[in-house]
Parts: sequence; structure tokens; C-alpha cells
Amino acid sequence: MTNVLDEVLAANRTYAAGFGDKGNLAMPPARRFAILTCMDARLDPAKFAGLAEGDAHVIRNAGGIATEDAVRSLVISHHLLGTREAFVIGHTDCGMLTFDNPTVHDLLHERQGVDASEIDFLPFPDVASRVAESVRSVRESGLLPADYELHPFVYDVQSGRLVPVDA
Ligand SMILES: [Zn+2]
Repeated sequence: MTNVLDEVLAANRTYAAGFGDKGNLAMPPARRFAILTCMDARLDPAKFAGLAEGDAHVIRNAGGIATEDAVRSLVISHHLLGTREAFVIGHTDCGMLTFDNPTVHDLLHERQGVDASEIDFLPFPDVASRVAESVRSVRESGLLPADYELHPFVYDVQSGRLVPVDA
């Protein structure tokens, strides 16, 4: 019987055994950029964007949305750790397209016995427009400089390709 905890710890032992000199990496991302994207298990930013340890910040949440907390992370990434640009990456077939708030509110009421009706789980009907909206939110926050570049994309889960979004 498989056990996730054991599997992960075994994988980590193998990883640490080949860790080499990566213990000497600097805290600021070497390539000075960040990626904000969805938590979807099919997306592996290290692979699809060619990242090694120490290269870039990767900020993830359900939908890859520029929430207040994602913006907080981008602010720290830029102002304290020197990143100069960020990719905002949604993706095709996102789970956030598949539900609405009342559905989750009902689910939580049934399963957890709580009233979560005040919580917005931020579902959206269109990926590209949600990416564009996130880019606008970051810009309009006023917390990042005008020359902080934002690159909006949709990742295609069928092909592994990044497709640019107008924003
Ligand atoms: Zn998603």
C-alpha cells in the first residue's frame, strides 16, 4: 500500500543526496523574476519555464490570481529581493472555471457545518480575461514601480505551451 508521507520522504532523501553545492545559493532570485500561477498539479513552472533552484520566485494559488496575498508576495519579491518582472500565468481547463461560490458555500455547510457565505472563492468564467484582470490589479495596486514588467500568459495543458494574453 502506498503512503504519500513515506514516498515524499524517500524522494527527498534521494534529492538531498544529490544536493551538491546548492546550499550556497543566494536568497534573491538569480534571474530576477517571479511567476504567479495556478496551483494546478499539471503545471510545473520549474519545467515549463526552465527554472533551477535559486532562479525565480514562484507564487501559486487556486487560479493564479493576483489576490491581496499574491500582491504582498510580489511586493516582497521586488522591493526586498530584487525581482524586476513577473509572469502572470493562467491555464486552460482551470478548475476555477468549474464552480461558483454558492456551490462551495453549500458544500462547506454540508461537510463542515459552517456558514462560509462571506468568503469569495474567486471562481471565474474566462481564463485570459482573468489573467488580464490580475495584471490590472497588480498595476493598480501602486505597490510596484511603473517599469516592473508583467507578462500575461495562458498555459495550454494540452501542449505545454505558453500563449500570450493581451493585457
Ligand atoms: Zn487552475
